[in-house]
Amino acid sequence: MIRAGLRPFLGVLVVAAILGSAGCEASRVPPSDQPVFVGSSDSSSPSTPSVAPSVGVPSPPAVASVPGTTPTGTRAPVVDHGPRTGNKVALTFDADMTDGMLASLRAGRVKSYANLRILDLLERDEVPATFFLTGKWVQRYPDVTRRIADNPRFELANHTYGHAAFTGDCYDLPSQPVNELRGDVAKTFEVIKPYGGRQTRYFRFPGLCHDAATLDALAPLGVTVVDGDVVSGDPFATAWKPLVRAVLDHVRPGSVVIMHVTEANAAMTDEALPHILAGLRERGLVPAPLSEVLVGA
Ligand SMILES: [Zn+2]
Repeated sequence: MIRAGLRPFLGVLVVAAILGSAGCEASRVPPSDQPVFVGSSDSSSPSTPSVAPSVGVPSPPAVASVPGTTPTGTRAPVVDHGPRTGNKVALTFDADMTDGMLASLRAGRVKSYANLRILDLLERDEVPATFFLTGKWVQRYPDVTRRIADNPRFELANHTYGHAAFTGDCYDLPSQPVNELRGDVAKTFEVIKPYGGRQTRYFRFPGLCHDAATLDALAPLGVTVVDGDVVSGDPFATAWKPLVRAVLDHVRPGSVVIMHVTEANAAMTDEALPHILAGLRERGLVPAPLSEVLVGA
């Protein structure tokens, strides 16, 4: 569910994200009925074995499922946070990218939507994090995506292909038909998949906007929808201290903190991050990959 308190913060980003994005093309990938499992070594080879298995041969060990994988055919579950026990919290970074943002880059109005200082800091301090990537961001920043995927502490998740909304009411985001959602999300997994690393079946809606129809549309994909319970308010922030307060005032064990790695429209995030990390340490909270924070959720 969308928490009322989150909407004002997210709205800022959503509104700005669509500026100049007129003509943002929708994904035209036809929806697939087949879930796209990523990172699995379960090849289920149809080839004929050279030696027929004999009765009593133990089965191979079960392949661990990709984090976030849920049974297909049922409405996608939505989680805000993990169990309120222990001391783990998830730092999540959204990587939005619209056609309007791409146009701003091409025109030179914006230098970068990839905040490398955030990666520098997380790598230096060996901090785990989870990145919700749009397909267009991955295609614009393949080297940065590779850097994320190559870090064993980072997880990769899905944030749609072009940061469109699939509900009729999501701030001022242009609405994309719900019957295009499944194909859009499947396509994004396919874009992310070749990078390897810690792939997941976690998915986050732009603006956290979802309803029963969108969750039903995702049923064939076997994903977990992740909102979050702590919004940093980093979109278009002009000072870092409010971000730090927003996070540290609300973070608890099991929290999922929403931030952005988009630099030009989240320019204070890297300045706030060291203070956020220090505050977490003071509170005895430890950043962990999303899959570890949501265990038991
Ligand atoms: Zn977003």
